[in-house]
Amino acid sequence: MGKTAVVTGGSRGIGKAISLKLASEGYDIALNYASNDEAAKAAQEEITAKGVRCEIYKADTSDIAQVKAMFKDIKKNFETIDVLINNAGVVDDAYLLMIRQESLDRSLDINIKGYINCAQAASLKMCSQKSGKIINVSSVSSVLAVPGQCVYSATKGAVNSLTQTMAKELAPYGIQVNAVAPGFIGTDMIKSIPGDLAEKYLDAVPMKRFGTAEDVADCVASLLTGAFAYMTGQVIVLDGGLSL
Ligand code: NAP
Repeated sequence: MGKTAVVTGGSRGIGKAISLKLASEGYDIALNYASNDEAAKAAQEEITAKGVRCEIYKADTSDIAQVKAMFKDIKKNFETIDVLINNAGVVDDAYLLMIRQESLDRSLDINIKGYINCAQAASLKMCSQKSGKIINVSSVSSVLAVPGQCVYSATKGAVNSLTQTMAKELAPYGIQVNAVAPGFIGTDMIKSIPGDLAEKYLDAVPMKRFGTAEDVADCVASLLTGAFAYMTGQVIVLDGGLSL
């Protein structure tokens, strides 16, 4: 295919499933992660087994110097950047009265600044190509109030807003920007929810199951096809009906 997708947080969970799905469709993958070398190498092996190229890049997306260095390397290694999946994110739930500054800063830095840093670096290249697609991974928490998630939901609300503005700014350059807002998805992130609370959450999902990382990957891959060539600035909620 000769197309390249950059996937942030591609070593585990939703990012890994998206990387594998896009690899199975023929995309070469530039896979970013933060710290877990073992998981990144394992993901790289699984991806290359699909017959495409996969390079891994350790960089904290909230750190602009690391992001610039990473994209410099990506541009050296791959001819084009056709897709950016802004996915690397963290959740650190706490009720308003218990929020720690350190946790607040980390969430704002990774979940908002990180998305802007990577979109800026990728769209520089996409603008010169006059084509590209950016998918921002948001969350149902951006449209559904969950006690304990005011920081997380604020960051994901920001992702929805920046999706719209980026879409408007970048449309003249042939770049589409959309977001997917998953509900509860069975990744390491969701495994941190205590058992009784997880059951309560499951009960609230009309489709009576948590989503899978593959559900999200399938949705993201569909958005990259010609079927959605005229859509930009939209947030697709993929939550089994949770937010209804
Ligand atoms: P996950 O299983 O915890 O995986 C997180 C991934 O992001 C890992 O690859 C991790 O790399 C990477 N990462 C974390 N901080 C990073 C940073 N500063 N720079 C670069 N990479 C970083 O998470 P997930 O559940 O797949 O979630 C992925 C995205 O989906 C997030 O944006 C999350 O908010 C969103 N989401 C998840 C759910 C859900 O139910 N799971 C629902 C809605 C939305 P290392 O392992 O190296 O740290």
